[in-house]
Amino acid sequence: MKDCIFCKIINKEIPASIVYEDSNVISFLDIMPANKGHCLVIPKKHYETLLDIPGENLSELIKAVKNITKALSLSIGNGAYNMVMNNGEDAGQLVQHAHIHIIPRFKGDRLRLSWSHKKYGNKEIEEYKENIKKFL
Ligand code: AMP
Ligand code: ZN
Repeated sequence: MKDCIFCKIINKEIPASIVYEDSNVISFLDIMPANKGHCLVIPKKHYETLLDIPGENLSELIKAVKNITKALSLSIGNGAYNMVMNNGEDAGQLVQHAHIHIIPRFKGDRLRLSWSHKKYGNKEIEEYKENIKKFL
């Protein structure tokens, strides 16, 4: 898609530190890493969020995520990582081309991915459960 920075990386219009590429998926290092080695894995077709990605492309994407995570762990020598996917502006998605972050984690790295905990009111958790189940 025109004006999409990740499509430009896919089309080699702008440089990136590409670690993996096949016909459906590409992965490169995030230029502003949460930790060094932070990779992004993206489908080559421009989909905006998880829900836009068809099942077969999604399975290719998640398999690549697994392989890259393994390579990251082997190369950096650490088996701990966070997988993050921001979907939608309110969730902090800045680039509107679906992408999965793989962030290697190190003991004492002080990286914060935590959130404060909210509380359900009386029976509210059951209402949430029923509302979600209606659509599944
Ligand atoms: P998000 O907030 O989930 O949309 O994250 C977008 C990520 O893309 C950020 O972590 C940016 O650092 C990263 N990013 C933006 N432009 C580039 C680029 N040209 N090459 C590599 N990573 C990028
Ligand atoms: Zn794109």
